[in-house]
Amino acid sequence: MSSSNFKNDIVIAGVGVAAAAVAMRLLSCGFRPVLLSRGLPCIGGIEAIPESALGLFDALSLTHVLQTAGGVWVEGFENAWQDNESVIRPGRYIHVDRASLAQAAMALVIDRGAVIVSCNTLTPLDVEKEWVRVMVGGVERRFTAAIDATGRSAIWSRPIKRHQREIAQIFSAECPGSLLRGRIARIPGGWAYRLGLPDAIAVGVVTSDGTCLEQVNDQIRESLCLPQTQLRLLGRRPAFPQWAEEPVSGRRLAIGDAALAYNPMAGQGIRFALSSALAAAAVVRTLVESPDDKDYATQFYSELVNGERQKHLSSINSLYAHESLSTSSQLAKSSFSKAALPSTICYSGQTKMTGLYINGLIQPREAIALRDGNVVRWLGSFDLLTLRDLCRVPVSTATLLEQLSFKQMTEAEVVSLIWWCLERNILSNHDSSFLG
Ligand SMILES: Cc1cc2nc3c(=O)[nH]c(=O)nc-3n(C[C@H](O)[C@H](O)[C@H](O)COP(=O)(O)OP(=O)(O)OC[C@H]3O[C@@H](n4cnc5c(N)ncnc54)[C@H](O)[C@@H]3O)c2cc1C
Repeated sequence: MSSSNFKNDIVIAGVGVAAAAVAMRLLSCGFRPVLLSRGLPCIGGIEAIPESALGLFDALSLTHVLQTAGGVWVEGFENAWQDNESVIRPGRYIHVDRASLAQAAMALVIDRGAVIVSCNTLTPLDVEKEWVRVMVGGVERRFTAAIDATGRSAIWSRPIKRHQREIAQIFSAECPGSLLRGRIARIPGGWAYRLGLPDAIAVGVVTSDGTCLEQVNDQIRESLCLPQTQLRLLGRRPAFPQWAEEPVSGRRLAIGDAALAYNPMAGQGIRFALSSALAAAAVVRTLVESPDDKDYATQFYSELVNGERQKHLSSINSLYAHESLSTSSQLAKSSFSKAALPSTICYSGQTKMTGLYINGLIQPREAIALRDGNVVRWLGSFDLLTLRDLCRVPVSTATLLEQLSFKQMTEAEVVSLIWWCLERNILSNHDSSFLG
């Protein structure tokens, strides 16, 4: 590893899922990732990945790793949050052991050319204008950028903040023919979940009062409908939301749990590990290929992580306030109907220039600024600025529905889109202007 030719070298601390994902993406962009591993085994445990995260595995060419790691498809999720009365939440999930997933993904990136260096202790990072410096194997090395993928340790991304103090104790058992479908239930002093693979089961018990359990008691077994099998404690993991105050600073980016660790109840940790990895790789590419856009790239990344954090904290707070696993917006959606739409609407969004993810780079573009500080340009593949063109002056909703139906959207999709924009002041109700 020559230090003089560092332009393509990116140093990544950690060898978890987020580290493997960013290494994979960087390899495909022509960089050489150097991963620093402290060589300690990680606590495993079955985790559930929502089907909606599959697109990210595809984008990172990691889909087949799910199979290598023994992942299986499972239909639905049992929600016994309220009074242990169970309802099945629809949806498909992949259940996979997190340690096997990280291992399989890491094997792939090594095979593709990433370099792994053993490193018992990570030394501090020196972030300079054109490069970062760090000691690797006792030698000072320069890299174009540094990625902190050290999970909740967030070694290069301190200070960090946290919300609440929940700790998860994770148990497992070999259990051929066990229940695959996940289940979540409230228990005194916290909550618990169960997730299955064809030959194993994992149980997580999350407590907020510092209680450390060595065993799963009968009450938890009953709440989770567990078979009578001996469960072994795998270990304890923090389960509270935690985030780096500065997820990006110059040429140093935090990804995955190092940037933002979710409460596991959200089931979003692996999805975020992949999406932040994809975004961080685009930022690195922008720093190298389009340095004039570096401020947009930094702003993009920091808004991405901060936006996810705000959403997560508000859903966690509303969960504890309303004691329900359905979000208020999900409930409200059911009342969105075509008949209740105003008859005349007008575009009322405010735009600003910002960095957006386009073709693997962060590029400056106009986007709509939302009241909560976030920005948005596309909903799926729909460009929201189309609405500015279509209703810069007030138009009848019937006309707008008709115009949007030509954009290959169903009527139901158009109705939800209009409600979504009305809620966020991108469109406004113009009926009142016609009253007088
Ligand atoms: C109880 C529980 C259940 C969960 N269930 C789900 C679920 O069902 N679905 C889901 O999507 N997510 C779930 N999550 C979240 C998910 O596990 C994490 O979000 C995800 O594993 C984060 O991956 P990562 O690569 O960022 O971090 P990690 O997997 O923690 O990897 C961090 C890496 O950094 C290395 N490292 C740490 N410190 C140092 C150091 N000092 N020097 C060098 N290397 C270091 C570690 O060895 C490791 O390689 C759950 C979390 C918990 C706590």
